[in-house]
Amino acid sequence: MKILTIVGARPQFIKAAAVSRAINEYDDIHEVIVHTGQHFDESMSDVFFREMSIPDVKYNLKINGLTHGAMTGQMLEKIEEVILNEKPDWVLVYGDTNSTLAGALAASKLHVKVAHVEAGLRSFNMRMPEEQNRVLTDRISSVLFCPTENAVENLKSEGFESLSVKIKNVGDVMFDATRFYEKSIGDKARVEIDGKYLLVTCHRAENTDNLDRFKEIILALNELSKKYKIVFPLHPRTKKVIENNKIKLDFKPIEPVGYFDMLKLIKNSEFVMTDSGGLQKEAYFHQKYCLTMRDETEWVELIENKVNVLTGACSKKILQEARRISNLKFNSSTDLYGDGNSADLIIKSLINLQNYE
Ligand code: UDP
Repeated sequence: MKILTIVGARPQFIKAAAVSRAINEYDDIHEVIVHTGQHFDESMSDVFFREMSIPDVKYNLKINGLTHGAMTGQMLEKIEEVILNEKPDWVLVYGDTNSTLAGALAASKLHVKVAHVEAGLRSFNMRMPEEQNRVLTDRISSVLFCPTENAVENLKSEGFESLSVKIKNVGDVMFDATRFYEKSIGDKARVEIDGKYLLVTCHRAENTDNLDRFKEIILALNELSKKYKIVFPLHPRTKKVIENNKIKLDFKPIEPVGYFDMLKLIKNSEFVMTDSGGLQKEAYFHQKYCLTMRDETEWVELIENKVNVLTGACSKKILQEARRISNLKFNSSTDLYGDGNSADLIIKSLINLQNYE
């Protein structure tokens, strides 16, 4: 069986690392990796391939720095060429980026089966590029690997059960990644931070492309920096907004870090503040509270379990919630995202579908 894996952005490298490890257990499965180039430099891409031993990329399409339409269009064209050349049995796509949609669309038009990992998630905000990508990708996939029961329910309520598509709750491959790679934090993480700190990331377009929202977030972080160290690895998009608008930070941000450093930073933090999808769950995996600086989240089970709180981009609300959660002891013993073997379930499913259907 030949699987063509499409990746392009940081969280996809992490998810693909977990699945590639599972693929490696099978001698008769051949994986070909396509990197669209959406994230491309040392700190946003190379470090993950090196540290997480992701197999070599066969095709690097080097497509980045374009508008959404141009980026997705160029990826579509190039991925089509790769599919025609490689003739895979499956095209495997992850999450919700332009690379996800372009990969799924190119395959679907050539009648090659698409497997979508992290299917069924919804923010119900169709203005988000991520929501557009995930809704459209789900609709043209042959098998939908959902990370949670909520994701399965979302698909059912959209009528997916009446379509000829397989829907499976396999748990979250990011949990696999955390469980496997956290064993090596001691050997591989290099970052050293003394004292109490908050781990912060912020890069989502709804915050960085809206200066009012972004300034509210920075206002809250500047205030929190009077009490805590702020450890804020800056996404390139966020860095650009800060520089272009001369936004004053009362703390010194750091460069993006590799996965082992990130795991260590989460583990030793007081709590996590973010607008990232992945980091909300990683905080939970490490038993840390998370304050999510968005108006909605796809990971609703974290909110239901009261280990994550939505603050929007309102400095008053952010500070109020930061004060509240700083006094709480983490309390949640439920297994929300599977048992750390999601990648293997995915591969076993693909083998079954290939052999028996
Ligand atoms: N991450 C990392 N280094 C950083 C910031 C994030 O390794 O400097 C990891 C983070 O731990 C998580 C993933 O990148 O596993 C999340 O990616 P991102 O926030 O870029 O995307 P999202 O999850 O929002 O799609």
